[in-house]
Amino acid sequence: MFYVKQTINDSLEIRVEVHDDNVFTTCPDCGVEVCVDISELFSDGESDLYGTALFCAECSKSRLEEIL
Ligand SMILES: [Zn+2]
Repeated sequence: MFYVKQTINDSLEIRVEVHDDNVFTTCPDCGVEVCVDISELFSDGESDLYGTALFCAECSKSRLEEIL
C-alpha cells in the first residue's frame, strides 16, 4: 500500500491511500481535472511526476485532429 501524507499542523496529519482512481492532474490546455492511473502512466519507465503532463480527452482529440 502506498499513500500520500500531509502534515496540516502539530496535531493533524492526513494519509490517503493511492489507488488507480484517486490520483488526479489538470489538463495543461483547459485546466479540467483528469483522473490518472499512475501505475499505468509510469510503466513506460520514461514518465515522471514533474515533467509529465496529461491532456483531457477533448484537448487530446483537438491536438490529434490538428496533426492529422
Ligand atoms: Zn483539456
